[in-house]
Amino acid sequence: MQEIDKDKQHLIVDRLGRRFRNLRLSLTAACNYACTYCVPDGKRLQAAAYELSGEEIVRATRLLIDTAGIDKVRITGGEPLLSPKFPETLQGIMDLGLSDVSLTTNAQLLPRYAEAIIESGMRRINVSLDTLDRERFREIARSGDLNTVLHGIELMQAGGLAVKINMVPMKHVNDDQILPLLEYSLERNIELRFIELMNMGHLQASPSYGREFFSMEEILDRIASRYAFCRTDAPFDSTAVRYDIAGSGVFGVIANESEPFCRNCTRLRLSSNGAIYGCLSSARSSNIRDLLALPDDEAKAALQEVLLGALADKQDENFQGEVTVMKFIGG
Ligand code: SAM
Repeated sequence: MQEIDKDKQHLIVDRLGRRFRNLRLSLTAACNYACTYCVPDGKRLQAAAYELSGEEIVRATRLLIDTAGIDKVRITGGEPLLSPKFPETLQGIMDLGLSDVSLTTNAQLLPRYAEAIIESGMRRINVSLDTLDRERFREIARSGDLNTVLHGIELMQAGGLAVKINMVPMKHVNDDQILPLLEYSLERNIELRFIELMNMGHLQASPSYGREFFSMEEILDRIASRYAFCRTDAPFDSTAVRYDIAGSGVFGVIANESEPFCRNCTRLRLSSNGAIYGCLSSARSSNIRDLLALPDDEAKAALQEVLLGALADKQDENFQGEVTVMKFIGG
């Protein structure tokens, strides 16, 4: 571990040259979906006890910009739009002046918040969508309505936001939706990103992980049956491998298993109850709630210690899997 002096700040860098740049803020652990790959038995996740207030989340973000050198923030969850503190937190984060703030949502509540999101100045948004088939949608998400998601996407595009769609392809569950979703996305200038199923939460103890895992190679084979494409260069800390379909658009694959990106990972996560996580593969965390009540200089000194521990939690090579439920710490 060493420190570099960047713009007069002392930023912590590990031996692989990694530091924290991307902060994922989980606004709430609660979700209005109960996706089969996220939670068992259709049980929806509830809000964590003692979730941080919007004000605390914004203060934590400001302190992390100063101490860790965070320059990208993604608001996530749980389902972030389910949190009553979403509008004030969004505005507070936007007021910090970062050049890259985005949101990951299942879009069920997008119509309600479209105006606030567009007016906040946010430039891009990720929508999770695993199928264009109405019934399959209900089988996977075990809640929600497909048309509401599609309407939400239209509202975001009409408001000038760039939209990406996240799809988790699963064998014999929705792998037949790879081409329809790609076609839908290409027609609308949306970047579709296929996320390899991660061995998280209840999947760790379930045969469904091995049965449903659909690899990057299988995804690319399926796409190659209809489109010609070539790989493009991704920036250093991008988790997605991107492909260009000449003249038609791009798509990405987030290949946690097939092409792990731990060596380039610059992500830091703040859970809705104030726990800092350095790695999705590690359940270790430090709670910073109390630290947020300290004066700035004391809070920053204490945060440096927390960040050192969190950076040491990162894996060197590949994702190991964890029982920690992704919804809880912000996917
Ligand atoms: N509720 C929001 C949403 O649906 O976008 C944000 C949280 S959700 C945990 C973020 C992303 O993680 C979603 O795109 C979801 O599909 C993905 N995800 C959840 N569990 C996963 C798993 N086991 N493997 C791969 N992706 C997963």
